[in-house]
Order: sequence, then C-alpha cells, then structure tokens
Amino acid sequence: MHHRARKRFGQNFLTDSLVVQQIADVIAPKPGQVILEIGPGQAALTAPLAESGAELHLLEIDRDLGARLEARFHGQDNVEVHTGDALNMDLTDITGGRPFRLVGNLPYNISTPLLFHVLQWNRLIIDMHFMLQQEVVKRMAASPGSKAWGRLSVMCQYYCAVMPLFNVPPDAFTPAPSVQSSFVRLIPHSKPPVDILNFSAFEHLVSLAFSMRRKTLRNSLRSLLDTDGIESVGVDPRLRPESLSLAQFASLSNLISNHDKGNGIS
Ligand code: SAM
Repeated sequence: MHHRARKRFGQNFLTDSLVVQQIADVIAPKPGQVILEIGPGQAALTAPLAESGAELHLLEIDRDLGARLEARFHGQDNVEVHTGDALNMDLTDITGGRPFRLVGNLPYNISTPLLFHVLQWNRLIIDMHFMLQQEVVKRMAASPGSKAWGRLSVMCQYYCAVMPLFNVPPDAFTPAPSVQSSFVRLIPHSKPPVDILNFSAFEHLVSLAFSMRRKTLRNSLRSLLDTDGIESVGVDPRLRPESLSLAQFASLSNLISNHDKGNGIS
C-alpha cells in the first residue's frame, strides 16, 4: 500500500538509487557494528545497512512506517525497530550503552535541535553520517569570519570534526524538498580541541553572543564580562561574534568560570 508522505514529520524519501549507493559506500557498514538509524522511513538507506550484517536499530516516529518496517524486516535478527521521537529519547538506551554509529536522512524541520540532542552522547558515538539541508551543513562546517559561522558551527566543531561529503539535489527525493541537501560525516573528537572549565557557561556565552550577532561583544556580553575582562584574554571587545574562533570563545567562558569560582559561585 502506498504511504502518503507526512509533512509534519519532514518526510522526503530518498528515491535515487545512485545516491543511496553513494551513501552506503561512504558509510561502509560492517558485520557486528552497532548502527542506529534515525528516521528510516521507507527503508531506502536501511536496506543496504541491513544487508551488511551490522546490528541495526531503527528509530522511527511514524507508527505506520514503524509497522511496515517491522513487517519488512521480520525474521531478520540483526534489525530491530523502535518507534518514538528521537528528540525525546535516550539513544544509548536503544544501543545498550555500547559505542555505536549514527546515521540518518534527518527531518529538516527539526535538524538543529536533533543535532544538539545527539551530540550529548558524542563519547559513545563512533561516527555520524547525516543528510541535511545544505545550508545547515555549511553552518556546521563554517570557519570563523564567515557569515555562516554561528552557534551551530562552534558547538559542532567543539564536539566533532565536520566533513561535508557531497551535495544532493531536490529531485533525488520524493516529494522533492524545496532546498538543496548535503551529506555530511561527523567524527567526535577523542579529546576536545579546547579546554572548557564549565560547559554550561560556554554554551550560555556562545548562545548569548550569537543571539545578538550584529552587536559588538562589549554590548552583547555586557551581563557577563566588562571590556577589561574581554581584553584580558586578548579579544577585541569591538568585534562581533562571527570573528571569534572556538579557542577565543573558550578563553572568554573560562574567564567567567574562573571569576565565578573566585566569587564562590560554581
Ligand atoms: N530515511 C528515509 C529516506 O532516506 O528515504 C526517510 C527520510 S525522511 C527525510 C525523515 C524520516 O524521519 C521520516 O521517516 C520521518 O517519519 C522520520 N522522523 C521525523 N521526525 C522524527 C523524530 N522526531 N524521531 C524519529 N524519526 C523521525
């Protein structure tokens, strides 16, 4: 029976077999690997992953599709279907606390919160391969000083090496999305590239700075740091957040954390 794509679940199904093959080739699944696929949909990517003999966990929000996946992979011992909302689930429960690979042609309407949600398990994730809106991948991989550099770039690059692999046109999907897509690989760093004393302070500082991206740091960070403080770590307070590197964000947040410690706040 034909499945009618549900817009609210961001359902744009990959229907170009060459693109599916290209994705399977770059993921290169191996027998015994634990792989979690978010949003398997109608199993375009799932089929080659399942054939590899990997231990495959499928997490799908759409119950109708979940039932179809159950029927399709019935009797295939290496495939397990889970129904639920990836945004509200502990992915490590699904994979039994073991290291795992994460893949998905992600629903574009929730891609940013979903990325932040999955990054919390970066220590258990071996690698991630995602299809995303091209503009989101550009932001994830951006360099300081570019327009695309923002909170998503800083946080993704704190956790991972971000490697855009190839672009995918709208006509590779049914229904075709209104945007271009890109396929990206993320490899969590074994050791973060910068030392952060207090991670919540770092997250807060980065969010605050980019929530006012046209303002200078002197203005946007006024509630956290004064001009002398910003200058004390070699950062010009007249800069806007898009000029700051990950290391400079780390220095500013460590300054706040050290200062809070001095005040007995931790
Ligand atoms: N993997 C399939 C493909 O490549 O053709 C489908 C990709 S489609 C862009 C996104 C899939 O994610 C849909 O199957 C949708 O139902 C599912 N989905 C949407 N929101 C989800 C969520 N919060 N948790 C889990 N799956 C979700």
